[in-house]
Amino acid sequence: MLSGIYIHIPFCSQNCKYCHFVTVPFDREMTGKYKTSVVKEIALYAENALSRFEVDSIYLGGGTPSMLDSESIEEILHACRENFSVSRDCEITLEANPDTLRDENKARSYSKSGINRISVGVQSFHDRELEAIGRLHTVTSVVESMGILKENGFNNINLDLLLGIPLQTSVSWRESLERIPETGFSHVSIYMLDLDEPCRLSEAVSDGSISIPGDDVVADLYLETIDILDSYGYRQYEISNFAKPGSECRHNLKYWMRKPFIGFGLASHSFDGHSRYANFRNMEEYFQALDVPRLPIEWRKSLGEKESLAEKLFLGLRLNKGIRWTRLKRKYREDCLQEYENFLRELGAEGFVEWKGPIVRLTPKGMLLSNEIFQQFV
Ligand code: SF4
Repeated sequence: MLSGIYIHIPFCSQNCKYCHFVTVPFDREMTGKYKTSVVKEIALYAENALSRFEVDSIYLGGGTPSMLDSESIEEILHACRENFSVSRDCEITLEANPDTLRDENKARSYSKSGINRISVGVQSFHDRELEAIGRLHTVTSVVESMGILKENGFNNINLDLLLGIPLQTSVSWRESLERIPETGFSHVSIYMLDLDEPCRLSEAVSDGSISIPGDDVVADLYLETIDILDSYGYRQYEISNFAKPGSECRHNLKYWMRKPFIGFGLASHSFDGHSRYANFRNMEEYFQALDVPRLPIEWRKSLGEKESLAEKLFLGLRLNKGIRWTRLKRKYREDCLQEYENFLRELGAEGFVEWKGPIVRLTPKGMLLSNEIFQQFV
């Protein structure tokens, strides 16, 4: 089966106020050591694998992978090609901040190294909103970096936008959306601001020093966004993701479809089809394991039938195409399935899911409540 590779590059020069990713302040010396360790981890993994994996997607996420120099990215991709059977049409994505892309040479080297998809953390098309969430780039740098990417042959470009941030209004959100077609993105990810885990912004909102748009406003804007993006030719295929036909993210689809993927680097997660496991979150422990050398795995959990069914449901329902219930019936025991089916039938009566023949999927209203719905599965 075709696998995906995820490589975590944790370095960041900024500290966005809403961030709860595993990040490390940028340090040139440490990035060199980190790159060497990731390359070592890739080789060690392949050495221990029972067979040579075929890979058709590689995703460099972060942090800010575009802070690594292009030679280091090239070395990491070379290690992937040396140790796995990487397909000729492999989708290779690099996450980037607009400020780090305003460099012709860098864009050219990325293209030469085989990167064919860039995911840009734009978040807003208003400078004051960007400043309010602690982003260092400006709208001008977004436009400039897009020009450079296009000139260097990148046509598959994703843009991340953040809904529900301080100073955002219905008007400013619609204005951000209006900028999308002219800037030429092929894929759009819309994330709602998530303050469930503690971060600087959640503290500021709790103590009243900053306010964010209300839940009802955000919900209405999300529903409106689906229609607006559709009118621009971006079809929704997942709760947060929209693409021009044929530009759906091959790598991220693997997560929702429970296809195997291998994670390398600090705090990266993997799924082999039966169990999930994760690397150390602490940089020292990560380095020490690879110095031995042994794989830097911190925990591993194999999934039983009930857990794998629950995953199938809450991941599959994220996709607009939904889940074919008859297929589940062939794979899982009736007594396991019945409880979930009853629950989803009830949600159907309330308009949160729709059943069409054997297919069940979330309605837009259900997508808004997806976190609450999915909690019932775990
Ligand atoms: S750029 Fe991304 S990973 Fe880095 S601090 Fe900001 S939100 Fe976090």
